Amino acid sequence: MTDPRPNQGKSVFVRTYGCQMNVYDSERIVGLLKPLGYSVAETPDNADLVVLNTCHIREKAAEKVYSDLGRLKRIKNSRNKTGGDLKIAVAGCVAQAEGSEITSRAPYVNMVVGPQAYHRLPELLARAAREKGEVLDTDFAVEEKFDRLAERKADGPTAFLTIQEGCDKFCTFCVVPYTRGAEVSRSIDAVVAEARSLAAQGVREITLLGQNVNAWASAPPAGMAGSAWGLGELCRHLAKIDGLDRIRFTTSHPRDMDDGLIAALGEEEKLMPYLHLPVQAGSDKILKAMNRGHTAEHYIRLIERIRAARPDIALSGDFIVGFPGETSEDFKETLAVVEEVGYASAYSFKYSRRPGTPGAAMQKQVPEEQKSEHLAQLQALLERQRTEFNQKQVGKSLPVLFEKAGRKHGQLVGRSPYLQSVHVSAPESMLGSIAPVSIEGVTPNALAGVLKEGEYAA
Ligand code: SAM
Ligand code: SF4
Repeated sequence: MTDPRPNQGKSVFVRTYGCQMNVYDSERIVGLLKPLGYSVAETPDNADLVVLNTCHIREKAAEKVYSDLGRLKRIKNSRNKTGGDLKIAVAGCVAQAEGSEITSRAPYVNMVVGPQAYHRLPELLARAAREKGEVLDTDFAVEEKFDRLAERKADGPTAFLTIQEGCDKFCTFCVVPYTRGAEVSRSIDAVVAEARSLAAQGVREITLLGQNVNAWASAPPAGMAGSAWGLGELCRHLAKIDGLDRIRFTTSHPRDMDDGLIAALGEEEKLMPYLHLPVQAGSDKILKAMNRGHTAEHYIRLIERIRAARPDIALSGDFIVGFPGETSEDFKETLAVVEEVGYASAYSFKYSRRPGTPGAAMQKQVPEEQKSEHLAQLQALLERQRTEFNQKQVGKSLPVLFEKAGRKHGQLVGRSPYLQSVHVSAPESMLGSIAPVSIEGVTPNALAGVLKEGEYAA
């Protein structure tokens, strides 16, 4: 009989780059390896296997993988000298985009596994051990991946849950349609089963994930009305799960923000009042060149409809400065959109030329200095808005879900409905509970508050 835990005593270190979808995938990778006997190593120095779960979205993120591989090579070489070994796997979007290029540049890499193939890591590990050469798996079979993953173990009161992968939008700056493949939604039954299992393990808040999460669509559950459900219906359905108190979702695309989802945001109390809705730029000329499929005006009207449904909603966005052809006049239109919308938080980036995307071949690439100058201006404005939004919470009472111990003794860190970190003096027994907190101050990255006496909730 073969040993069911052939790697007993071995350990794996997983490094995650990039987005929350990679955080989710890394958690599933660990969940896949634990039954084979692997424990989790805190650093690569004493691990037997290192998995780099990579991001290809910007050049810097991809290059970082190669510099980390250089460091791993040194660890592997010194192990080899004493008869030991270190197996190295590159997973995620760099694996998908570069494939065998990785093993040409870094021949000591043992495995290259695309984002839709990591469920096959156990068999790739076995093959790498048998064949002693590198193995490569960059297939695109999303459903099979989810079917073959083991049931998840929850880790704390919040969890990510991937419901949708891939993208058909083909924004001209973006590699996602090439690295993650076409848009695929997980079935309602699979999503509900995973959410129920997480809630039964004490998870109180789930964040539904997808590159275009609001493009999620599925047939309704057996016996329920409707021909196809969208994200709004899904959220209302998940809200019925006992124990699950908060639902979030990210990242949404303006084109897929339909009436059903806007109505759900207004009516379903468990849906948190926070929406990440990237606009990328404020000039219609640039939005068109980006192939976003919406204008600035369309985005602003959409925000108005969302705010009419949920007046307290906190908005977040992504911005790219310096897309080819962007002039200072175009950039001013981005600032104007930011002024008009008012963001609670945001991510902003310099345009990064990604090989194989239409943007990379466009004329009128913007000089680095201009990108840096505009990015600094944009970030100053976004930071001012973020601080203003945080300051507005002072004096309010907000329900906070306590997630983890704080850095200071006797302190817990939780999240407000608006996704702000909140630092509070509270007993450890309150981890996992939701309680009202009086917000008393603002620190650069968080709110500070005190528990409202006598109002400890469940
Ligand atoms: N699907 C989401 C949407 O369309 O809003 C975004 C997903 S993408 C993984 C995350 C963010 O990375 C994008 O919103 C964009 O701002 C940024 N991004 C993507 N490609 C980029 C590039 N070539 N250069 C700079 N930023 C980029
Ligand atoms: Fe990339 Fe655009 Fe798809 Fe978002 S919608 S993942 S930015 S191609």
